[in-house]
Amino acid sequence: MAACIFCKIIKGDIPSFKLFESERVFAFLDIQPLAQGHALVIPKYHGAKLLDIPDEQLAEVMPVAKRIAKAVGAENYNILQNNGRLAHQIVDHVHFHVIPKPNEKDGLGIGWPAQETDMEKLKEYFKEVKAKM
Ligand code: 5GP
Ligand code: ZN
Repeated sequence: MAACIFCKIIKGDIPSFKLFESERVFAFLDIQPLAQGHALVIPKYHGAKLLDIPDEQLAEVMPVAKRIAKAVGAENYNILQNNGRLAHQIVDHVHFHVIPKPNEKDGLGIGWPAQETDMEKLKEYFKEVKAKM
């Protein structure tokens, strides 16, 4: 997709600190890291959200994320993939963040507003979703 910044990075039209490239996957350092070693793994196939990407184009993504976590020597780290503005997605080309968490301050800060357990509600919802799987 011509206007997409990550497609331009894949093509080499915009420079990047490339860590890995294969037929279907590209990985590079994030330009505004949350911590040293923060990298992005992207399918070369253009799509805005996860559901827009065919399964076979995603198969190599996690193995590459693992390689990066190892290469940057992260003991604690988060893998993050945002979909949609409300979910903090800014670049509309699917990408997986590998974000080292070296200390309390650096890396990803997470809000985790857990709701009370409601077994009846869970049971009903489970049936509804399971039927669509
Ligand atoms: P999102 O919020 O969409 O999940 O994250 C997009 C990420 O892409 C951000 O962490 C941002 O720093 C990174 N990013 C945006 N533009 C560029 C760029 O031109 N080069 C690199 N290397 N990273 C970028
Ligand atoms: Zn793209």
